[in-house]
Formats: sequence, structure tokens, C-alpha cells
Amino acid sequence: MSDRPDAKPNTPDFNQLELDILKFWKENDTFQKSLDKTKDGEPFIFYDGPPFATGLPHYGSILPSVIKDAIPRYQTMRGRYVRRRWGWDCHGLPIENIVEQHLKISGKKQIEEIGVERFNQVCRDNVLTYAREWGKTIERIARWTEFDNAYMTMQTSYMESVWWALKQVWEKGLIYEDRKVLLYCSRCETPISNFEVAMDNSYRDITEESVYAKFKMAPSQRIVDFMTNDNTYVLAWTTTPWTLPGNVSLNVGPDIKYVVVEQNGENYILAKDRLEILQGDYEIKLECTARALEGLSYEPLYPGVIPNPENRAHKIYAADFVTVEDGTGVVHSAAMYGEEDYQAAKQQDLPRVPMLDHKGQYLDNAPQFLHGVFFKDAEKPILDDLRQRGLVYKTEHYTHSYPHCYRCGTPLFYNALPAWFINVQKVKNRLIELNKDINWYPEHLKFGRFQQGIENAPDWNISRNRYWATALPFWKCTNASCGNIACIGSIDELREKSTNFAEVYPHYDPADLEKLDLHKPYIDRVKLKCEKCGELMERIPEVVDCWVESGSMPFAELHAPFENEQLFKDRFPSDFVVEYIPQTRAWFYVMHVMNTMLFDQAPFKNVLTTGTILGEDGTKMSKSKGNYPDANIVIEKYGADALRFYLLTSPVIIGEDVNFSEKTLAETNRKVNMLLYNVWSFYRTYTQDKVFGTVPEAAHVLDRWIMARLHQTHKLVTADLDGYNTVRAGRAIVDFINDLSTWYLRRSRDRMRGDSAEAKAALAVFGYVLAETAKMLAPFMPFLSEFLYQDLTGKESVHLENWTEVASQVDDRVLAAMELVREAVSLGHALRKQLGLAVRQPLRALDMTIKSKSVDIDEELMALILAELNVKIQEDALSDKASVRPDTIKSIAGPSHIDQLYLDIELTGELKQEGLARELERQVQDLRKKSGLKVGELVDLYYNTQDEALASALVELLDRKKTFVNQVKMSLEVEVDYEAQAEVDKKAVWLGIIKV
Ligand SMILES: [Zn+2]
Ligand SMILES: [Zn+2]
Repeated sequence: MSDRPDAKPNTPDFNQLELDILKFWKENDTFQKSLDKTKDGEPFIFYDGPPFATGLPHYGSILPSVIKDAIPRYQTMRGRYVRRRWGWDCHGLPIENIVEQHLKISGKKQIEEIGVERFNQVCRDNVLTYAREWGKTIERIARWTEFDNAYMTMQTSYMESVWWALKQVWEKGLIYEDRKVLLYCSRCETPISNFEVAMDNSYRDITEESVYAKFKMAPSQRIVDFMTNDNTYVLAWTTTPWTLPGNVSLNVGPDIKYVVVEQNGENYILAKDRLEILQGDYEIKLECTARALEGLSYEPLYPGVIPNPENRAHKIYAADFVTVEDGTGVVHSAAMYGEEDYQAAKQQDLPRVPMLDHKGQYLDNAPQFLHGVFFKDAEKPILDDLRQRGLVYKTEHYTHSYPHCYRCGTPLFYNALPAWFINVQKVKNRLIELNKDINWYPEHLKFGRFQQGIENAPDWNISRNRYWATALPFWKCTNASCGNIACIGSIDELREKSTNFAEVYPHYDPADLEKLDLHKPYIDRVKLKCEKCGELMERIPEVVDCWVESGSMPFAELHAPFENEQLFKDRFPSDFVVEYIPQTRAWFYVMHVMNTMLFDQAPFKNVLTTGTILGEDGTKMSKSKGNYPDANIVIEKYGADALRFYLLTSPVIIGEDVNFSEKTLAETNRKVNMLLYNVWSFYRTYTQDKVFGTVPEAAHVLDRWIMARLHQTHKLVTADLDGYNTVRAGRAIVDFINDLSTWYLRRSRDRMRGDSAEAKAALAVFGYVLAETAKMLAPFMPFLSEFLYQDLTGKESVHLENWTEVASQVDDRVLAAMELVREAVSLGHALRKQLGLAVRQPLRALDMTIKSKSVDIDEELMALILAELNVKIQEDALSDKASVRPDTIKSIAGPSHIDQLYLDIELTGELKQEGLARELERQVQDLRKKSGLKVGELVDLYYNTQDEALASALVELLDRKKTFVNQVKMSLEVEVDYEAQAEVDKKAVWLGIIKV
């Protein structure tokens, strides 16, 4: 028995290994070859969500990339044709904001000063700034994709397809223009969509001063038997004091009970259930219903701000949205700054007057001291002013999560704005119905977040008041009494209907579409002739929400239906999409909406969502906090395979948020990558033979067992990868590699040495298993698997191989038998440990009683147990018995097959002598290791000891270990290469070796 192999464990340079493989792939065009090989196979359709190239790639982009590579690689090995084309999202606020900073301007006025032509040109020039960096990262992590042939949403062809789609939707009557309350960014001067707000960074907790404002009742109004006087106030609570100057109404809940209370000589009206907000003693003077308050008048806090010619404003109204959850049970409304307020004001026919301009600053109708003030800066002056005038009951700090612009960080506000909408309400039922065809991973998203998102979805605001985007293809008649609107669905249609196309686009060439720039300001110059009245039509100024573009990706990347219509049909819907979980309400949602409206079909069959990778401290990854290691450094240190495997086996892949852990990554690298590499290098110390694909004959029980484990693992991995579960698949492989190294190889080393037929048979199995492991690992670790497979088989690439057909029959009997063997071994080791008997000390005999009736322990299996436990024989007559039961051993979990295991612990002189020899052998092996000797290299061994037993054990060593000891001599004088002063069985011995 040899615990320690002669070969030194290798610490490979994975980074260099991977760079060499990358070079090989490039020189040999391996990706293209894998596509050529499968081109007649059944397509496996993959849609790739386009990222922005306006920032550097990071873990958030590496994570989906890893799975976007692993699944297609697997499917390719299964013989499917997996087209993978990169795409870039080019339009919208991300790039516009960067360009504003770049040009040192801010706001629309300054953009228009420098000119939209220049502004958009700079956007175009800068939108792919970091594309090269992305290319490098994508290549380094072995993500195979047609990167240089990327589609771009700013291409004329792409934009034309988006026009086509909008026209289809328009003709179905699903697009309309209306004024609605939308979240609005005053710096970017555009509404922000609910998808944009659904993404990261949008909501932040902020603490603000909320106010209980006093609205003074007009005197001499009757509430049941109470008459209002000069000191009667309605209390209303608001978290947005900036809206108070624009107050138009107070609202009470129809079913809520109200009271009039007296406190410090003033009368207050509020809900009975909200009396707790009052400070100090009070006396209830009256209880009444909401109806008794309806229609009563109060004085505006700022008279003159809201015109009130019909005397409808500044009265109490009943509204369903009022609750007694917080505040006073009375809700102040400024009509324009909340969806419910706006709808109620519309119903009640109240004045709807904006107070803020497009930059979020007060207009001239506001009180003098607020003119030109930014709304978020107005709260303090307003509260100060109201306090001075005795109109504040109290203020309170209030922490709530408030939406901010996802691009520029400006606090947003709700604003009633004119905009264009897709009528989601009309297609909702269909969206929900078609969702039934989609498989979600994790499954709870299907009827959870995704369906709920659809159920609660407002109509989709598809217009933006910006510049760098696809133009909304609507032209309006300039004749006010006509009102005709034209929707243009193609460049041909534009040419046909316009009066000045050739003037605007003199170089138009249908053969070179990209020469035509459909962006602003050119497109705005194109005029149409009204088909109704013959007057001129002008394009509306708005551009398209870029989410319409990403939702159009399935057809627009192909310029369908203008080109590639058949290809599009063949590629729709997709088999597989994957993005991180917030895309459930963003890209997955918009794709579902667009394609349901256009094709009445869900655009994807299987959706995988990843969670979010957080920093090591559990907060958002942040460069300034330094709470995560740089991805490039991690790759250099451990290799991209280690990072891939770490991510693919982490629950982050199946939708959970996970803290990045370099420690876990390093452990993964050690337990998987390094372990496998070392197993392979052992193989190579025994043989230089190449492995052939034929399944070897397995006679020895260890060989039969490892083949069964391989088939068992292969079955699991195949099923899990079919179900997009790389976590479970990867973990099955980890277990397998562990078994391969710590049991199969450990127990097989001795029989693999030498030239015997038995050794050859064992190596044939070992080599086959290694090559099959490399194949199984190929989707996870494309580099190491390639290195191993090429070396083992001499074939060109593991990625050009077919996935092995799953073995129909797994030998369950040998698996169960080996389980019993390993349990016996664990018990034996535990017992030895309890008794303080080192494994090197041979024991005479063992015995055990077995529970399991289905497993037979034959001679071959018993030999394994005896060898591992260093026991000579199995026998039921033991002289000095020690025993152990499974239920007393912590490391033995799960059902046990063994009832009790016994060891004979009587140590005869002979056994003791052998124990000494084993210990000495270890010492000599240590010396050999230090001297860097290889397997088969011999040494002369010198020793000096006073102990006769040790001396004779050393001489005995020569007989048993001819493979590494040439001669053994007692000597003090000789000059040795390596020496050691050792202690064996509490006796001193000097050892020295000389290479022969
Ligand atoms: Zn903004
Ligand atoms: Zn007209």
C-alpha cells in the first residue's frame, strides 16, 4: 500500500493553458467548425439580449455570458445547430447622457444650441466606445458568438423593421396619444418608462419632511350641527410639500368616519381613525360621515395659483382612493402629480394646471418666492412660509423609497404629460394566455412576477422627448381642422408619400440602406402630403422608447420582413433566452408584448433568469467600496474555467442573489480544476497511450464501479442540462471527480503500475473515463476539457465531438456494493482514529455484520476494504476485539448498510515490525520527494540507528521496495544528497539518500 505517490502534484498555470487554447481555437477556426459540423442539425434557437457598449463589461455581464455559452455548447454537442449572434443596444438615455457630459452640456436647450445633427453624430461615434473591451472579455471567458457580425439597433435596417412593427400595431388600433401621469426626469426632460424604473438603481430610500398642513375652512358652513368659524381647519398630510401650492381639492373616503375636534382654541377636521396623530389633549365636538363634508369650501394655501372660474376647485370631494392607513384620512390633490389625482380631477372636472416647467422649475403662476425654483429645492421655503402663516399643524421625518432617473440620478416626479401609448390592456388576456406556453426557470416566476407584471401593467408609453433613437413614425396634418395622422411602416412608403424625400436624402441607394440616416434631425425634415385634405404633414417630435427596439429583436436583427423572412420564421420562437431577474419586467416583458401583438405567439419557449451577484459584503458591487475582486485579476489567478464553473454551479444561475466569494471560487478551483488536472497527470505518469473512443472491457470491481459511476453521472448531467440546471449538473460532476480521485485512483494506483495485462486493462478504463469526463465538462470548462481531451485522444477538439449517448443500463449492483465498501472503510478509519492506531500499522484481522441483504461482499470487495484499512484478513474469530457502529460516527450520513465493524487490535511482534517498516518507508519517500526523484529512479539508502528493530526493518525495506531502493547500508561517513534525522516509534534514526 502506498499512501503517497511518487509523482509530485502539479500546480498548473491555468491562465497560460487557457491562452494557448484560445490561440489554438483562433488559428483553427474551431467555433466556425462547430457550426459547420452541425449546420444540417435541428436548430436550437437562442436569442441574445443586446447590451449597451457604453460601459465596461463586469460580473453582471460575465454571469449571463457564461450560461449563454454553456447551454449552446452543450446543444451543439447534441448535434443541434446553434446560431449565436451578438447584438448592441445603441439608442437612448445611456449614450445621450454620456455625450452630454462629453460635450460639457446639460439639458435639451443646450443640445439644441449645438444642434441635433452634431449631438447625434457624437452619439453615433461614441456608442461603441467599449465594444473592443467587451470583445476581449467575451473571448477570454470562451464565450463563442459571432461578435464581429453584431446587429445594432441604430442600423437603418433595424430601425426600418421597428417601423414595420409599429405600423402593424397601429393598424390593429393598439397605439394612441394621450395625456397621462408618468414618471418624469426633469434633467433629461423626458418621461421614464415603468421598465426603466423596474431596473436597478431606480428606487432609493430617502428621508424627507412630511407635513400635516392646515387648510382653513370658509366660515359659516354647516357640518350637521356644527358651524365652521374663522378657526376651523381640515388637516391633510403629504410627503410632497412641493405640490401644496398647486392644491385643487381635498378628498375624503366615502366610507370613512370623520370628526371635528377642538384643541387650543382651533377646530380640526380629520378621520376618527386617525386621531392618534394629534399632539396633546383635544375634545371631540362632532362625529360625521364623509357625505357631511362633501362640497364644503376651503381657502387655498396660495390663492391665485390655480384659476377657479367655475368655482369647482378648493372644495372637499369624496374619492375611493382615500384610506386611513396613514395621514389624516384627508388627501390633498394637485391634480397633475399623481395618477389617481389626475383621474379623479378629470372626473370631477377640476382645473388641471401645471405648476412646473419641463425642467422641474416653478412656472410664473406659482407664488413669487418659488419662481424658477427646482421642485425638490422648494420644500423648505414652502414649509417655512406656511409655518409663518400658522398653516402647519406639525411636520414629521418620513423615510420612503423614491424613484430616481436610472441614468442621471435626478429625483423623478409624476407628471401628467402628453405621450404615445401601446394599449396593453387590450392584449392582456392574450399575454397571460400565451405565457402558459413558456417554461420559466425558476418556475415561480411564471405565475408570479411575470404574470403579475402583466396583470398590473399600465399602457406602455413608447414615446420619448429625446434625440438619439428611432424616430416615432407618425406624421400629423398641419391643418388643425383635419387632424389626420399617418403611420409610416417602411422606407419605400416614406418615399412614396413624402413631398421632399429626394431633397432630404439625395444619396439614397436601396442597395446600400445604411447610407440613409433615419435619425433626427434628417427624418424631421421629411414632409408628407395629407391623404385627407392635401395639406402638409409634419413628423411629431418624439422618438421611440428603446425598449420597443429590444422587444423587436427577433425580427429586426434580420431586417425581417424586408429581408430574411423565411429565416425569421424558422427562428421564431426561440428555444432559450437568459438574462438576470429584473429583465422579467423589462426585456422578457417587452419581447412578449411586441411579439404577441405581431405574431400572436410567445417569443420564447424556455426562459432562465439569473440572480444578481453582490459584493463580498452582501451589498451592491461597487468599485469605490472595493467589495469584490477585479474580474480580470480573478481570471489571471485562477483561469476563466474556474470562474465559469464557480458561476455555473452557484445558485445565482437559478435566480438567487449571491455574494461573490473569492474563497469559494478558490476552493472550486482546488476541488475541481486542480484535482482533475492532477488525476490526469497521474494517468500520464503511467502511460503515454492515446485513448480510443471504444468502451473498454472492465473486469476489476473498481473498473466496473467507475464505469457505473460515469454512466450514472452522465445520465444526471444530461437530464439537468436539458432542463437548464447547470447547478445540479455541475455538482454531479464535482462528486464524480471527487470519487475518481479519492477512491478510484487511490485504490487503483498499485494495479496500474507496470506492463501487466491487468495494468493495461485498468489504464484503458482510466483513460476512457478521463476522456468522457472531459466531454461532460466541455460546456462548463471549455479550456481544461479541451486540453485534456486533445492530450488524451489526439483529436482536434472536444467541442467538435458528439455528446455521448446515455448508457441505457447503469450497473446499480456494483454502485451499491461499493457504497458498502466505502462505509466499511469509513468505519474502520474512524475506529483506528479512536484507538490511536495509525493506518501504517498493519492489523491482523477484521470482521463486520451487515444489515443490507441486497449486497454481497465478495472476495474482491473485501480485498479493497482490507487493503484500504491495512488489515491482513477477514475472520470472525478475533482475539482482542474493538468495534464501531455507524450511528456513532458523524461523517457517516444517510442509510447505512453495516451493523457493526470489528478490528483485531492485538499487535504481534511481526505486525509491529511491519508497522515500523511502513513508517520508515514513508520517511524515505519524503526524502525522495524533497530530492525531486521521479517514479522508477533508484537510490542508495544510508542509515544510522542504535535500535536493532529499526535496523532490521530498514533492511527488510530493500526486499519489498526494489522499485525505489537500490541498496541499504548502515553508515555515518558517507556524503549524501539528502538527509533527515527522524523519529520512528520514539526511536531516533538518521537517514540519507544518494541518487543512483
Ligand atoms: Zn435623467
Ligand atoms: Zn389633413
